[in-house]
Amino acid sequence: MSTANPALKIKRLQDIEVEGKRVLARVDYNVPMKDGRITDDTRIRETLKTLEYLIARGAKVALVAHLGRPKGKPDPKYSLKPVAEALSRLLKRPVAFAPDCVGPEADRIVGALQGGKIALLENLRFHPEEEKNAPAFAQALARHGEVFIQEAFGAIHRAHASTAGVCKYLPGGIGFLVQKELEFLDRVLSNPTRPFLAIIGGAKVSDKLGVLNKLLDRVDCLLIGGGMAYTFLNAQQVSVGKSLLEADKADDAQRIIAKAYARQVKCLLPADHLVVHEIQPDAQTAVTQSMAVPPDMIGVDIGPHTVEIFTEEILKARTIFWNGPMGIFETDAFSGGTLAVAKAMAAATKAGATTIVGGGDSIAALAKAGLASQVSHCSTGGGASLEFLEGKILPGLAALAGGVV
Ligand code: AMP
Repeated sequence: MSTANPALKIKRLQDIEVEGKRVLARVDYNVPMKDGRITDDTRIRETLKTLEYLIARGAKVALVAHLGRPKGKPDPKYSLKPVAEALSRLLKRPVAFAPDCVGPEADRIVGALQGGKIALLENLRFHPEEEKNAPAFAQALARHGEVFIQEAFGAIHRAHASTAGVCKYLPGGIGFLVQKELEFLDRVLSNPTRPFLAIIGGAKVSDKLGVLNKLLDRVDCLLIGGGMAYTFLNAQQVSVGKSLLEADKADDAQRIIAKAYARQVKCLLPADHLVVHEIQPDAQTAVTQSMAVPPDMIGVDIGPHTVEIFTEEILKARTIFWNGPMGIFETDAFSGGTLAVAKAMAAATKAGATTIVGGGDSIAALAKAGLASQVSHCSTGGGASLEFLEGKILPGLAALAGGVV
């Protein structure tokens, strides 16, 4: 498989001898929780294929993961215990839980694992050494295995002890989920069926400049929506009222538009908007008659005419990458444009297009519309997928390939 850097050669799970071995696997169980309950278990379910493969081969599996941002110290709010219980239900077999990811108790629980058994270890980020990629901590984690399997796509763009550091002490490779993620993204980068369309939305232009630049080298059409569209419109001298604006990014936005023009990439901005006086769930909404937003109003979603234009482009495309909502979709009244894009993505998939959705918000919108299973691929790592498409070296992959991190 080629990767962000074709020079990197990385082993896949099926290339690695795991029969009866002690396997340390980094998984992404950073699941959304409410009142101690998991509200979406997608990330857990996505690891089952790899875990069942390891179980069938009698491996003794120690799983490490992070949850939330506990700031380097134990915090029961961020305990992975409910995840161990959910995993046990999904696997229909017991999953041991270790109350720490390193130290004597973790060593004892992992050491006692029989062939085909699994233990999930407590949140890595209860230790500040995890995010600092401290060698001694990475070494302590590495003691849990003879082989390392990287299955946390959502964390692979981080140079942490459990994603990069540990590779200095253990041989390893990628699990089935990471392999699937890379194959889909690689297809976008290397050989997309045309027309290739990218839809980019969300709040900030600054976060997406790199990927916009890179995508312009590849795509036939680019649709820009969400709060970031206002920075582009402003750069084009269109008034945006009180909408979200990164005025200092006008030059960057202008350069993106100029690049699209030079490369003959069709680059579409919203033609109309849903606008409000105040961002309140029950605010009275209006639709603009043009690209411009009245001086005292705020754009909160793309308008119906834009939905029509964007839908038409989506249905014409054969490869589509979507990242970022078209409006403040968390508020029902402002979610219409994002849901319409989700529906068009599902329709395009049905018509044979390869559709890839990255980023928690876009996936949440698909799920809200009941369409999560109706696109070709939902990436479990929004940040990682953007960095991959930008062509950045992902530290978790570079480390597996023996590269410098
Ligand atoms: P990002 O993390 O950059 O992908 O941005 C996602 C966020 O963008 C979501 O929380 C949306 O509510 C927000 N967003 C999308 N459109 C707008 C808009 N027109 N004004 C303000 N925020 C927006």
